[in-house]
Amino acid sequence: MAPATCFSARFGIQTHLVSSSALPMRREHNRRMFNPRASSGPISRKEEVVIVGAGIAGLTTAVSLHKLGVRSLVLEQGDSIRTGGTTLTLLKNGWSVLDSIGVGEELRNGFLQIHGYSADFSLVMRSEDGSQLRSFLFEEEAPGQELRAVERRLLLETLSSKLPPNSISFSSRVKSIKRQETGDTLLELANGTRVLAKILIGCDGVRSSIAKWMGFPEPSYVGHCAFRGLALYPEGQPFKPTVNLFYGRGRRAGFFPVSQTKVYWFICFNSPSPGPRINDPKVLKKEALSLMRGWPSELINIMQNTPDDVVVKTPLVDRWLWPGFTPSVSSGQVVVVGDAWHPMTPYLGQGACCALEDAVALSTRLASALNGSDVTVEEALRAYGHERWGSIFPMTALANLLGNFMQWDDPVVCEIRNKIMIPWVVSLAPILEPNNFAFKFLEPAVASK
Ligand SMILES: Cc1cc2nc3c(=O)[nH]c(=O)nc-3n(C[C@H](O)[C@H](O)[C@H](O)COP(=O)(O)OP(=O)(O)OC[C@H]3O[C@@H](n4cnc5c(N)ncnc54)[C@H](O)[C@@H]3O)c2cc1C
Repeated sequence: MAPATCFSARFGIQTHLVSSSALPMRREHNRRMFNPRASSGPISRKEEVVIVGAGIAGLTTAVSLHKLGVRSLVLEQGDSIRTGGTTLTLLKNGWSVLDSIGVGEELRNGFLQIHGYSADFSLVMRSEDGSQLRSFLFEEEAPGQELRAVERRLLLETLSSKLPPNSISFSSRVKSIKRQETGDTLLELANGTRVLAKILIGCDGVRSSIAKWMGFPEPSYVGHCAFRGLALYPEGQPFKPTVNLFYGRGRRAGFFPVSQTKVYWFICFNSPSPGPRINDPKVLKKEALSLMRGWPSELINIMQNTPDDVVVKTPLVDRWLWPGFTPSVSSGQVVVVGDAWHPMTPYLGQGACCALEDAVALSTRLASALNGSDVTVEEALRAYGHERWGSIFPMTALANLLGNFMQWDDPVVCEIRNKIMIPWVVSLAPILEPNNFAFKFLEPAVASK
């Protein structure tokens, strides 16, 4: 017998009116819906704020809203927090956001800061034979900059630990989206559950189904792919806290220490197409090593110290937010955040940092609208888009252009890059300085009506 339903007004939690014999079954459904280790059963429910995607953007939005007194439900397609992925470099703006939501210090403790000290350098550029082209000290280029990598898994686990119980519903892949006459959005999940959302926040990454539904074009492949890995040194890694970059023809690689026992490395290489998807990690690592044949042994040894299953290959894509051509960040009460809105290439190390900034900017405006300011939710979402577009559009374009400069493969142009541009022209300041702004601490008191 199908249960009758009614909705509570404030948070719109769906109450099921069921016969007493159906209650144990309903409790089992609820338990499975929110237990990351169990598969979910279908429950129809109504929520005021639904976030799709428990990645960096989704979890930071949920934590920020929670701090501001707004409850949300996060729907994640995976059956747990993503444990794969390697490491993200976070710059000062990323750390400022983590500070503003109260998790910065907790995360800093586990990871080394790239600072450069006395006669050492923060960043060294070399050619593919290992000879030094140029070195930089962040303190000279952009005083106050903070660069520190963080393991994606730990970042996500730390964020999710700040949410109230039952905030994330795992095994909840959004399959279809429909706008209702009321302006609410009906989400149909792959497991058959139907969720009615008053406000829908799409944090579902590069291939966002919500962005697609809003009319955004597919992100474009930029002609390069990346390998990333995390080398393990259980006895302690031997490197100084310096970023090491190597420039070759159509190939670039780099490494730097992340913690006392882990070293992050990456390769970016030109490829006319993303190529077939390879799932066997051994094959991926072999492919990565073959790209670096003849490059400095220091780099190759680090790659060899990497367990197969932490080598990841990603085709690089982006989407430029052309004013007047690209859809707006929001449509009614539906909005996109992070990669779902603005996939960008990783050449500035800003994708996740921008997702973090988006999350706090959106949450601040949305919480204010929901907590009784004169601004409507639609206005708040649009204002978030205006606020963020001015940073995002130039950042996406700059990352793309910088990537093309770094990935040149013409031998003459590479000579000019390595002999003239890098030693005499390149400056880190324009890349690092735009990130030198800080968020203020998110005050829970702001939320009270
Ligand atoms: C090679 C490379 C290197 C990078 N390095 C850096 C760096 O050093 N610094 C930096 O700041 N950024 C970096 N980035 C960018 C960074 O990884 C992304 O910007 C960041 O992960 C975006 O976070 P997100 O939460 O928007 O998306 P994601 O991390 O992709 O999260 C999306 C979430 O949504 C879920 N999801 C997707 N579809 C659905 C659905 N239909 N239903 C339910 N759930 C769904 C997914 O399972 C996932 O959990 C790099 C990117 C690449 C490719």
